[in-house]
Amino acid sequence: MHGKPFLEYLLVMLRAQGFERVLLLLGYLPEVVQDYFGDGSRWGIKIAYSITPVEDETGRRIKRAEHLLDECFFLLYCDNYWPMQMDKMWQRFLETKAPAMLTIYSNKDGYTKDTLRMDAERFVDVYDKTRQAPGLKGVEISYGIFKKEVVALLPPENISFEETLYPVLSKQKKLAGFVTDHRYYSVGSHQRLALTEAFLARRLLLILDRDGVLNRKPSRANYVRSWNEFEWLPGSKEALVLLRNAGFRVIVMSNQAGVARGAMTEPDLLNIHRRMVRETFLAGGNIEAIYYCPHNWDEGCECRKPKPGMLFQAQRDFNLDLSRTLFIGDDERDAQAADAAGCLSLLVSEQKTLLEVVRELINKQKNINE
Ligand SMILES: [Mg+2]
Repeated sequence: MHGKPFLEYLLVMLRAQGFERVLLLLGYLPEVVQDYFGDGSRWGIKIAYSITPVEDETGRRIKRAEHLLDECFFLLYCDNYWPMQMDKMWQRFLETKAPAMLTIYSNKDGYTKDTLRMDAERFVDVYDKTRQAPGLKGVEISYGIFKKEVVALLPPENISFEETLYPVLSKQKKLAGFVTDHRYYSVGSHQRLALTEAFLARRLLLILDRDGVLNRKPSRANYVRSWNEFEWLPGSKEALVLLRNAGFRVIVMSNQAGVARGAMTEPDLLNIHRRMVRETFLAGGNIEAIYYCPHNWDEGCECRKPKPGMLFQAQRDFNLDLSRTLFIGDDERDAQAADAAGCLSLLVSEQKTLLEVVRELINKQKNINE
């Protein structure tokens, strides 16, 4: 992927998340992996290896490495990249008091095939890799935390770790889930490679709130109802031009409850956005997409900030790594939505405008590149 082994992306992420030691369980052509990664010092991480016969399934491979495992260990299958957040996962793991926790992609968008079901407390209550059981929703992507005691439950035969252990643990309510709406990217199938490549390209992209960031914010419970009422904030158009010149793609994300509340129609809103995009373009900037939530405060939708729904939608549409994406807003709800999506955030104000923030950002980017 972009000149680097997929595994390297995983190791770099693990290091950034605070891991200091990694044990690689290898079977097929182990020397290829060992030659490249060595002891891991190049990445600031200590790599150990457990090499067992190529025909070993995951269960036996882990069983044979049992003496090398810590009392609590983190398990990756290594064909999935998912921008993990160890602090949140660890907190959930401690709260559940379970001996095992898996990361579960919610699969609301039907990205993949469902293999499990969760109960109200987000414990896995059915795990079925044959996908026969009714009511399945979600798929586990590893990124699991395990107490070593569960390895003792594995028989010595050559069996699959997940297919043997997860049904047993789930029946005993010992398999907690850490649920995510952020897509994972896989090298496990050829169809997925193009998406994974796009994701790991990590193109520069910025997400902006609209009211209070690009244009003057109307007072509370008032809305910009037409283009006449849209007033660019000083410097905001210039900021969009700078961003474009620096190679950033820009998308906008905005709550517009005025639609549901009858202050304007959806075509009114779309008209404002058309004009906004056009003026940006004529000035030399570019807004690539606009996401808006037209719902009222009490509709319980998933898109109205502080809910993170629009961020996850953009994540899927643009194959974003939200953990590396910055959302610039002007309101606490923007920051909350960003946090819920594992996204970076920054708030602008009259004291610190979008233009200033963008200038700093571009300078920082220059320094990284130089
Ligand atoms: Mg705002």
